[in-house]
Amino acid sequence: MTDLVNKLYRDKTLSKTEFVELINSGESVREDLRSLAQKLRYENYGNDIFIRGLIEFTNYCKQNCLYCGIRRDNKNCSRYRLTEEDIMSCCEEGYGLGFRTFVLQGGEDPYFTDDRLCEIITSIKNKYPDCALTLSIGEKSRESYQRYFECGADRYLLRHETASKEHYERLHPKNQRFESRIECLNYLKEIGYQVGCGFMVGSPYQTTENLAEDLLFIKKLNPQMVGIGPFIHHTDTEFKDFPDGTLEKTLLMLSIIRIMLPKVLLPATTALATIHPRGRELGIQAGANVVMPNLSPVSVRKKYQLYDNKVCTGEESAECIRCLNSRVESIGCKIAISRGDSKNIR
Ligand code: SAH
Repeated sequence: MTDLVNKLYRDKTLSKTEFVELINSGESVREDLRSLAQKLRYENYGNDIFIRGLIEFTNYCKQNCLYCGIRRDNKNCSRYRLTEEDIMSCCEEGYGLGFRTFVLQGGEDPYFTDDRLCEIITSIKNKYPDCALTLSIGEKSRESYQRYFECGADRYLLRHETASKEHYERLHPKNQRFESRIECLNYLKEIGYQVGCGFMVGSPYQTTENLAEDLLFIKKLNPQMVGIGPFIHHTDTEFKDFPDGTLEKTLLMLSIIRIMLPKVLLPATTALATIHPRGRELGIQAGANVVMPNLSPVSVRKKYQLYDNKVCTGEESAECIRCLNSRVESIGCKIAISRGDSKNIR
């Protein structure tokens, strides 16, 4: 192993210039990082892969992120919302399939007021007290985050998207402020959520320095989860002509994060599965230990189109989980039926 890989393994961090050098390094260093990451995944979580049932409950969004297919100004997006009953039946189906974590993800949809959200959270937690509930519904006030937490929400995913203010401003309209995003993450931590941040690999204008900044930001935040996946263009956005993020770089970033935060929960994302037919398996082999199959009703799946050609928009959930099981077993791992809490304690 090179000095840099050893240093990362030993110190669990590097300087910005060292991270840049590491990200730019060649195939053999990448291979060292991969096998080290896999070893650390195994030491901390064994061969268990945790599953999260993703319920994409609304694609209405008041925000206008330049990269995202469900942004407010995309007039070609056909909008939908699930009812509370729809959501409860997704959970029921998921529970039967072995899911013990549900993730409610959606656009920032004003229809779902705090009262409505709290009612849904309470219903899910009453019916499934043995399950963890994760929210991924964007930027809210501290008071709102507090209310959801008091109703029983356990975890919150809010990708920081990029740790560079300058880069953030190139990916978002002016009214979406970098400082607000970071402030939200701090609130979530203070309230006591298990927190997930994350970013897209290969997003427009991203530099290697930006990626190094992302790593340093993550190290400092010390979250329980880190969601990363390749940027994938969406035809109805301004970024339609930008190239997609690559498999190799996404795998590299997964491995570095696993070595930097050995106990973190690291999903092999749908975006990764979208750019490569064995993306999920390769992600796990690079250090990931979570997969988040879709539990949304088949009728709406195609409509939650954050980017082009998103996978798993067709199959039934049961079929999806069988397929996933055999994929995970093909690389010597197994799907765990448990909440799968993070061992990265705050
Ligand atoms: N509204 C919620 C959920 C957003 S969708 C929120 O603001 O947190 C979840 C994630 O999908 C985003 O955080 C973003 O990183 C990712 N995403 C959006 N558009 C994408 C694209 N074109 N390619 C890859 N990932 C994308």
